[in-house]
Amino acid sequence: MRTILLWMAGNRWLKEHLPRLWFARRAVRRFMPGEQMEDALEAAEQFRPLGVALLFTHLGENLERAEQAQAVADHYHDLLDKIMARGLDGEISVKPTQLGLDLDADATLAHLRSLASHAAQAKGSLWLDMEGSAYTQATLDLYHALKADHPAVGICLQAYLKRTPADVDELLPLHPQIRLVKGAYNEAAEIAFRRKEEVDAAFASLSEAMLPHVGDGTLRLGLGTHDIRLVERIAAAGEAVGVAKDAFEVQMLYGIRMDEQRRLAAAGYRVRDLIAYGDAWYAWYMRRLAERPANLWFAMRQMIGF
Ligand SMILES: Cc1cc2nc3c(=O)[nH]c(=O)nc-3n(C[C@H](O)[C@H](O)[C@H](O)COP(=O)(O)OP(=O)(O)OC[C@H]3O[C@@H](n4cnc5c(N)ncnc54)[C@H](O)[C@@H]3O)c2cc1C
Repeated sequence: MRTILLWMAGNRWLKEHLPRLWFARRAVRRFMPGEQMEDALEAAEQFRPLGVALLFTHLGENLERAEQAQAVADHYHDLLDKIMARGLDGEISVKPTQLGLDLDADATLAHLRSLASHAAQAKGSLWLDMEGSAYTQATLDLYHALKADHPAVGICLQAYLKRTPADVDELLPLHPQIRLVKGAYNEAAEIAFRRKEEVDAAFASLSEAMLPHVGDGTLRLGLGTHDIRLVERIAAAGEAVGVAKDAFEVQMLYGIRMDEQRRLAAAGYRVRDLIAYGDAWYAWYMRRLAERPANLWFAMRQMIGF
């Protein structure tokens, strides 16, 4: 099922036609407060009294024309102004291909530099999402180039990729900001763990290896997962080496385990909720369905009106 859903995520015909269907738009609302920037900013307000910080993503990936990247960058600049105007503890996370990485890597880097400067003015970081493995090295290269003159930039790394321990070792001397996730794409067994137990074990061992660097202040770590048992296991490992549970962040997606987001924040964890919005939600939504096939039943119930 996961493989089929991830294949559907990359299918151009479905990408064009499915989002036009009203029932699909209704189902996606579970994970997305709306398609407009204002919908995301309004939804963010509910997190303020809970002490939960925000991460915003305007959905989109794999541009077809280089000029589109400017409009994407302008949108994020506008978003940063609005985050500042509202006084939100909010950061932004972007996909390199949404800023034209397939078409012009130098122009993508220029957009990222300008967004990183603006994010620093807003007292936050600019995060790079990690896409499929075809983009891993290029995204790391962008990160190295950015980090040279912008300290407050973060990168997402995927625990399922077998190369990730080596990537972490290479990043640590830069005093990086790393969001560790399990990984959302369909990758070959030669380069990625495919069994859940293996991916979970890789996530735990990578996190545990990074904890001492969190402890000495040279790494900002975000655990991008809804796997509470894993978070609690990593927190216990941290405690054993003198790293408090509020020394790292737990980052979760809007609409998923909201009860746990509230509970963790109340229990003294630092929690950040990622709110995604926009009309280019098709591939992103299919990846959310693939993560938990039970979501398919939820989607189907929405479609037929129950
Ligand atoms: C803040 C954040 C940023 C991310 N950024 C990236 C990125 O840049 N690149 C990338 O490849 N991946 C990214 N991901 C996705 C990630 O790789 C996983 O696919 C996703 O988080 C599901 O795995 P999990 O760690 O939550 O654990 P799982 O073991 O899959 O799930 C643990 C539990 O969480 C709940 N859960 C998990 N997913 C869902 C869902 N879709 N719907 C409902 N319940 C669910 C279920 O209760 C499940 O039992 C991101 C995830 C988060 C939270």
